[in-house]
Amino acid sequence: MKSASYIGRFAPTPSGYLHFGSLVAALASYLDARSVGGLWLMRMEDLDPPREVPGAQAAILDTLERYGFEWDGELVSQSQRHDAYAQIVNRWLSHGLAYACTCSRKQLEPFAGVYPGICRDAGHDWENAAIRIRVPEVQYQFEDRVQSNFQQHLGREVGDFVIKRRDGLFAYQLAVVIDDAWQGITDVVRGADLLDSTPRQLYLQELLGVPAPRYLHVPLITQPDGNKLGKSYRSPPLAADQATPLLLRALRALGQPVDSQLAHGTPQEVLKWAIGHWNVALIPQVRNLEEARID
Ligand code: GLU
Ligand code: ZN
Repeated sequence: MKSASYIGRFAPTPSGYLHFGSLVAALASYLDARSVGGLWLMRMEDLDPPREVPGAQAAILDTLERYGFEWDGELVSQSQRHDAYAQIVNRWLSHGLAYACTCSRKQLEPFAGVYPGICRDAGHDWENAAIRIRVPEVQYQFEDRVQSNFQQHLGREVGDFVIKRRDGLFAYQLAVVIDDAWQGITDVVRGADLLDSTPRQLYLQELLGVPAPRYLHVPLITQPDGNKLGKSYRSPPLAADQATPLLLRALRALGQPVDSQLAHGTPQEVLKWAIGHWNVALIPQVRNLEEARID
């Protein structure tokens, strides 16, 4: 779709408003792109209408604008991309790479999130069933730009995973890979809660024959009570009138230098300064990668 030596993106899910943790991720990906003169695209990951908070899409974009972010090109919405996803799922089904699974949640409970392959050779009807992709018994690994080496054995730690849900909705893992490739994303910068999704995404990229982007996972921001800020928690939305102080707080969370004069600046001035001082080597590592996992 696009070609440039650096294409980054921010890909919010409208299941809630933008919170501090998502600001940190947005800021890191923005600064990483702009510091090398790269493009920064915006993609709304609106795959799950039942979980969407009404008004969240507009609120997220509005907050980003108030915080001084500028994205390139038109917003891409995953709700408009179903044909592309369906085409790939159908191809994999007809090649026998993917298969229908009729297991209930209850049936899978004892397997602690690793699918044991029950329906692999059952030949279930594709309609009204979840669709899973077969994974190889292979250890996947990649070099994260901050978190260094990350490894995961897809067969043992994940198992065949869902690419389309029984209710007909496409899975995040599938859509993110198809769209990152379609948008020509060279660099994925996002929260460390997605570290352990990356091996699945590398595998899907391999199946699609598309290049893997570089990855940089930023530490998760924890609330004072130790809970991760994220989709699964009700986190407070970012206040429109707190752009400068919250951007500065996000910069500190990313280990970046902060000039005290910036407290009096506009969000645009803070971003401009931060682009010039962006230093990936200062981003803290996640202490314990297990902590970053979301089950
Ligand atoms: N939509 C995902 C989220 O909001 C982010 C996906 C990604 O950056 O790969 O958590
Ligand atoms: Zn099954």
